Amino acid sequence: MPAVAELEHMLREARLRVTRPRLAVLSAVHDHPHADTDSIIGFARSLHADVSHQAVYDVLRAFTAAGLVRRIEPAGSVARYEARVGDNHHHLVCRSCGAIVDVDCAVGETPCLTASDDKGYAIDEAEVVYWGLCPTCARATRRRGEKSERTSKSKKHEQPAANGEPR
Ligand SMILES: [Zn+2]
Ligand SMILES: [Zn+2]
Repeated sequence: MPAVAELEHMLREARLRVTRPRLAVLSAVHDHPHADTDSIIGFARSLHADVSHQAVYDVLRAFTAAGLVRRIEPAGSVARYEARVGDNHHHLVCRSCGAIVDVDCAVGETPCLTASDDKGYAIDEAEVVYWGLCPTCARATRRRGEKSERTSKSKKHEQPAANGEPR
C-alpha cells in the first residue's frame, strides 16, 4: 500500500483537499484493484471506521473526475475502480466468476486510439474488454465436462475456443 505521505501527495497533485475519508478510499483503491463500491466501503471502513456510504460514493466520483482513479463497468457488472490510470490498459473478464485482470494495450502505445474513421470525434479513450474464462473456471469447466455432458447453457455469449485446447 502506498505510504500516507504518497497518498497525500496524489491528492494535492489532483488539487483535492486531504481528508481522512479521501485517504482511506484512495488507499483502498490502490490495494484492491477493480474493487466494486461495496468492497471499497468495507476496505475504507477498516482504515477509517466512521466513513459513510455517501462519503465513499462522493469521494469515488471526485477521484474519477480528477483522474485519480479509473472507473470501469464491464457489461453485466457493477462499476469497479482502479488506481492504474492514464495508460489505456484493457481488461480480461471471466464470464463465470467475474474475476478481472489488467492486460496491457495489445501492441505499441495506444494503437486502439487510432480509429479507422473518427467521424469527427475528438477521441481520448478506447475501451477494450476481453471476455472469457479465467484459468480456474476454465479448469473447473473442463473437469465438469469430463464427468457429465454439458448442461443446457445459453449459447449466445459463446466464443470460439481461445485456449488452444485440442478438441
Ligand atoms: Zn473465473
Ligand atoms: Zn485495470
